[in-house]
Amino acid sequence: MDNHNAEGEKSSQSLTNSEEKYHYIFMHNPQPMWIYDLETLAFLEVNEAAVNHYGYSRDEFFQMTIKDIRPAEDIPILYENINNQPSAEPPSSGWRHIKKNGEIIYVEITASSVYYEGRKARHILINDITQRRLAEEKIQHMTRLYAFLSHINQAIVQTKDQEELFNLICKIAIEHGQFRMAWIGITDENSKTVQPVAMAGHVDGYLTERDFSADNQPTGLGPVGTAAREGNIRICSDVASDPGMIVWRERALQRGYHSLAAIPLRCREKIVGTLALYSKDSGFFTDDEQKLLQEIGDDISFAIDAIVTEKESRQAQLEAQRLRQALDLITAHVYIKDLQLRYVYANKQTLGLFGCSLTELIGNDDSRFFPLEALKKIVEIDNRVIRGEETSEEIDINDPSKGRRVYWEVKVPIYDNAEDKNICGLLGISTDITERKLVEERLRESEIKYRTFFESSIDGILLTDALGNTLDANPAVCNMFGYSEEEMIEIGKKGLLDPEDNQLAHLLNQRNQHGRAQGEVSFMRKDGTKFPAEISSSLFMGSDNNLRGSVIIRDISERRNINETVLKLSRAVDQTGEAIVITDKDGLIEYVNHAYEVLTGYTLEEVMGKNPGILKSGKHTTEFYKQLWMTILSGNVLHTEVVNKKKNGELFIEQKTISPIFDENRNITHFIGTGVDITERKIAEKELIKAKEKAVESDRLKSAFLANMSHEVRTPLNSILGFSSLLGDSVFDEYQREVFIHHIIQNGNNLLNIINDIMDISKIESGEIKIHKHPVDAFEFVTTIKHQFALQAEERKLELKLTIPSTKETIVYADRDRLNQIIINLISNALKFTKEGSIELGYLPKGDQVLFFVIDTGIGIPAEYHQKIFERFRQVEMENTRKYGGNGLGLAITKNLVELMDGHIWLQSEPGKGSAFYFTLPAYKEDPGNK
Ligand code: ADP
Repeated sequence: MDNHNAEGEKSSQSLTNSEEKYHYIFMHNPQPMWIYDLETLAFLEVNEAAVNHYGYSRDEFFQMTIKDIRPAEDIPILYENINNQPSAEPPSSGWRHIKKNGEIIYVEITASSVYYEGRKARHILINDITQRRLAEEKIQHMTRLYAFLSHINQAIVQTKDQEELFNLICKIAIEHGQFRMAWIGITDENSKTVQPVAMAGHVDGYLTERDFSADNQPTGLGPVGTAAREGNIRICSDVASDPGMIVWRERALQRGYHSLAAIPLRCREKIVGTLALYSKDSGFFTDDEQKLLQEIGDDISFAIDAIVTEKESRQAQLEAQRLRQALDLITAHVYIKDLQLRYVYANKQTLGLFGCSLTELIGNDDSRFFPLEALKKIVEIDNRVIRGEETSEEIDINDPSKGRRVYWEVKVPIYDNAEDKNICGLLGISTDITERKLVEERLRESEIKYRTFFESSIDGILLTDALGNTLDANPAVCNMFGYSEEEMIEIGKKGLLDPEDNQLAHLLNQRNQHGRAQGEVSFMRKDGTKFPAEISSSLFMGSDNNLRGSVIIRDISERRNINETVLKLSRAVDQTGEAIVITDKDGLIEYVNHAYEVLTGYTLEEVMGKNPGILKSGKHTTEFYKQLWMTILSGNVLHTEVVNKKKNGELFIEQKTISPIFDENRNITHFIGTGVDITERKIAEKELIKAKEKAVESDRLKSAFLANMSHEVRTPLNSILGFSSLLGDSVFDEYQREVFIHHIIQNGNNLLNIINDIMDISKIESGEIKIHKHPVDAFEFVTTIKHQFALQAEERKLELKLTIPSTKETIVYADRDRLNQIIINLISNALKFTKEGSIELGYLPKGDQVLFFVIDTGIGIPAEYHQKIFERFRQVEMENTRKYGGNGLGLAITKNLVELMDGHIWLQSEPGKGSAFYFTLPAYKEDPGNK
């Protein structure tokens, strides 16, 4: 070409010389040539070949510039070429010209600069290389497509996953097929659309914006939809003009897609999708490539088939494995036998039962595993199954070594395949129902038991439904109410009620809340009579899963009577005054009554479970208790007196009776002890004895007294009578008679004293004596007494002393006459029993009391008489008692009087040392409470 060009430059020099010759050559040259104006770019001359080749007439050429025969996109490079150097590089695709018919041709250009008719021009020689170029392009396309195919095949071999394969194919289409975009869509049978699943290249959102329909509608009329629908490769050579592309055209061109091919993809002869390849060049796909595209489609379809088959078989394997796993999990025995009844398969349960592995089992029949009796039955059933029968039977296997098992066996024949009715074996499923069987049998037994119980129960039993309607009534309840069973069911629970008693409704309410309830209810029999009953009702779930109620009725009329009696008795026991204790046969306390609690101070709670020995006082020997137990344990009733100790430590005497309580077999079950506190009585008894002794003593004293009295009274009386009779005797003179009269008076006074004393003591003892208390001035009182006795004391040469306190006046609250009597008695005694020395009389205020005393220096009183001398008719007994005279009543009267005036009397004395008598009397207070 460069040579050609150089030659052109040389020939321009000789143009003027042979212009005509050149013109001829120019015009008739078989290669198209023209000359154009470098400034205007207008054609200045064209040859015939150019006219023929481009389709424009010479005149038409002259109307045009060279821009008009160039594609618009080449214009900028054209200018560059013209302005810089003629040999500037053509566009990458080569120079292109447009013929009058619009066809674009590829050309090689040889240009040379010339002056033509005075104008700067360029001479152009055109070599149309379109054909060559297309051939080259074809080869290039084919090479690309082969590379594409070859890579696809590699990918198919290497990839086992459809999604991965599709992605790879699209990528290969871009890399090796050099397509602008590629995608694979799968036909969705429901929506009849082709859904993109893989894509590569310049997608730029193209696939998300439009549906590709596999149906006959606008979005289905493009190559993809048509290919998917019809199963043929569809090609769109020029996106810009193809009417099928109307929906996508604009968008496709925006993304630089100028042509495309849609290749249907199949799986097992069925169209499943499309591979779409987009080229940046229009007319990329021609008929020649169809075969290759077809091959690509076939190879991908083959790969899809393979993947699906592989997947299916993997799935099938997995399913089989899962099935086996599932079968191993279920508790039933599942197994398959062939027509010879040899095991082909068995699940884990079955293998466990047989105690061998699957490999060990396969090929064996049942003869190895079952006793003869069972085997016969199994073989008989199996034979029926492989003849086409489906069986389900219970089989009872009694293996002497393994015990009894019961199975529910379902067996069905197995066929070669679904259509063919060729039996090739049997499938068996055996469920171990031994437990259920036993439960059923037990249930049956228990049903019989409960039915018997129901029928024979003494208690009435009603079964009801959830609404309370009677479903069943036992004979006892019918008897109880006097209705027949049918009547009972008909009348319902309500009809049995005492209309005045609403307790049942309340109880049933409670039962419905808590599931059970108990209580007492009044019922009415058929004959209208009423009876009390104890009922217990509960809800339970029936075997049909419906709620049921049970009502157990017990006629308690009799028990109520007994209860009342028992109540009475127990009240009697509880309320009786006797202490009652009940122990069990081991002697442990079960009950004590109230009287026991009061007597001992222990409560029931404290002694419950203890031994009655807690009351032991320690006053009895072990032997005593041993004897006690021996008596009662031998079944005898024991009566005894026991000294016991209360909780507070106080001792008491209990008169006790302990009796054993026997059951109907004469076995001792309990002991009952009753006791009465006889402490008081005992004391009283003792006192009675003392009193009796005292009475005897008194009697003796009285006799002595009376003897004395008779002497005392008789002596003065005899004396009086004697002297009185002498008075009438004239033998005695006046003086003698005076003496006699003196004796008579003296003895008469003595007699009077005696009689007064006796009268006093009688009055005191019979309670007749009256005390009139007044305030008495002690000082004034003792002073008067002193004066009264002054003479007598002087006569006996005794000093009569007065000892009084120096404090203010002392007033006693006493009966003056009685006080007088007391003091006179004491001073008379002192004078009587004192030979020499003194008699001291006085008083001393002591708190709210006044202490009086009479102290002498006389013969004194031995200690053992200090108490006795205050008793009636008691005197200190000595040989010379008589010499002092007296009747032994004085101090008894004195003591009684002191005590009647709320005082107290005692003495201090020793024989030979004198006696001191003290007594107290209440001091007078200006207090109304004293009066
Ligand atoms: P009687 O009239 O016998 O004296 P009492 O009851 O006054 O009776 O006295 C009882 C006895 O107490 C007297 O007999 C005497 O033995 C004794 N007795 C009373 N007072 C004295 C006394 N002051 N000194 C010694 N003995 C006395």
